[in-house]
Amino acid sequence: MEISVSGNTHTGITRNNNEDAFGIFPDVNLYIVADGLGGHAGGEVASRLAVDIIGSEIAGASATFEIREIMQRAILTANSIIQQKAEEDSNLHGMGTTVVVVSLNENKAVVAHVGDSRAYLIRKDIITQITKDHTVVEEYIRIGIMTHKDALYHPSRRVLSRAVGTEGVANADFESIRIQAGDVLLLCTDGLTNMLSDKEILQAVSELRPDSERITSRLIELANNNGGIDNITVITLCVLS
Ligand code: CA
Repeated sequence: MEISVSGNTHTGITRNNNEDAFGIFPDVNLYIVADGLGGHAGGEVASRLAVDIIGSEIAGASATFEIREIMQRAILTANSIIQQKAEEDSNLHGMGTTVVVVSLNENKAVVAHVGDSRAYLIRKDIITQITKDHTVVEEYIRIGIMTHKDALYHPSRRVLSRAVGTEGVANADFESIRIQAGDVLLLCTDGLTNMLSDKEILQAVSELRPDSERITSRLIELANNNGGIDNITVITLCVLS
């Protein structure tokens, strides 16, 4: 399977610092996006730690374990290290991060996530959100006490129900998908998805695939054109053959 990969991050228009981080580990076909939270320096530290720890833990893991188990263990390791550092340093108190991780093996992609950073699959003319946001409103929708329409304007629509580093455990949700030539996988932070609709994302991808670099930069440019009120991070994976 041949793929073209590109990742980038941008502070956006209105913020002064970038609390997002991403990692591309081509040797092990691993791709990670993280969106840090917590005041002062905390967010930046947490997202960077998560990408580095999860990347090295998965790259160094024994292949005897199943990939989901390896990914979950790596996320738990990041969770405890971030939590420990937050306890040691009062400037980092309360920090945490989202993560969305994709591991590719032949034609199978395994996606793990915690928080509201997303993975999308664009196949032909259809865009599908693979991950379900771990936000409080999404949990309400899931148990049937809120509609999607109500959630759009809910004051706490961005409050996370899960994150890495903020609690004793960080359980990821997993999805496995079979990928094929022509597919595009996107990993991104909410700085993209709060600025662009799925339809706008699909349109940009359709115009520029399979050029992953141009897709990544166009999506960031469009998010900034629409306001760029948050940090924007995108990894684009185009499956060539
Ligand atoms: Ca964000």
